[in-house]
Amino acid sequence: MPKTTEKQKKCAVCGGTSAQPSVRAGKRHGSPDLDTRPPANARFDIDTWVQRCPSCGLCFPDIAKPPSGAIGIVQSDAYQEQLQSEGFPKLANSFLCWSLVEEQAGNFANAGWACIHAAWVCDDAADFSRLYGNVSGSKMGTRDETAAATLCRAKAVKLLKRARDLGQGFGAQAGSEEALMADLLRRIARFESALKMVQFGIDAGPRGVVDTVLRFEKELAEKRDTDVHTISGALKWKNELPQTPEPKGKDVTGQA
Ligand SMILES: [Zn+2]
Repeated sequence: MPKTTEKQKKCAVCGGTSAQPSVRAGKRHGSPDLDTRPPANARFDIDTWVQRCPSCGLCFPDIAKPPSGAIGIVQSDAYQEQLQSEGFPKLANSFLCWSLVEEQAGNFANAGWACIHAAWVCDDAADFSRLYGNVSGSKMGTRDETAAATLCRAKAVKLLKRARDLGQGFGAQAGSEEALMADLLRRIARFESALKMVQFGIDAGPRGVVDTVLRFEKELAEKRDTDVHTISGALKWKNELPQTPEPKGKDVTGQA
């Protein structure tokens, strides 16, 4: 089990010092989701992926090293409203504020990823509410975390589209950016846009797992499926597809 520790960090915006959690990476077990969300045991430390200054509210992976211009956005009304928004879990607000810091700096791919992380926090909160109900009896019960996750994904799509337009890559392999975008669009029920994105991805000449994921996304979008699915689910789906029959005369048994 990875160990969570704390480090003193000096905020680059207000100069305040605070203890921020940091974690030693642990091993992952299980399959990531189609949008690369790690399995539950590997994302338990998601609260260490973003730091939040308790004084000024700067949210960033390292509050000592935000991009230039962070002070202006942190002091804006829009930022402070997001920081305190009751429409999202607190940790999702931290990711959404990190996204605003990246966006003002023109880092749209990073901004998009921060929104995807916010969506994962909302997904987990929605799952928790479904399983255990409103255990706290607080405002949590009136919050619609599923709707909050949809807002985060819609924002991620916008930001990643800007990243693509500006050539800010966010996928390592041919078709992987389109596969991610297709999953975000499908999860928010924008099926036609998801199918277009799948086609862009297939046109990019994907290989291996990325190709399989794109074809699986196509199948899911055509079925109007908005559920979460894993990469191992995509591979299983591929293996269960009817195999193309061998052409005649090439019988593997050698018998004509
Ligand atoms: Zn600060």
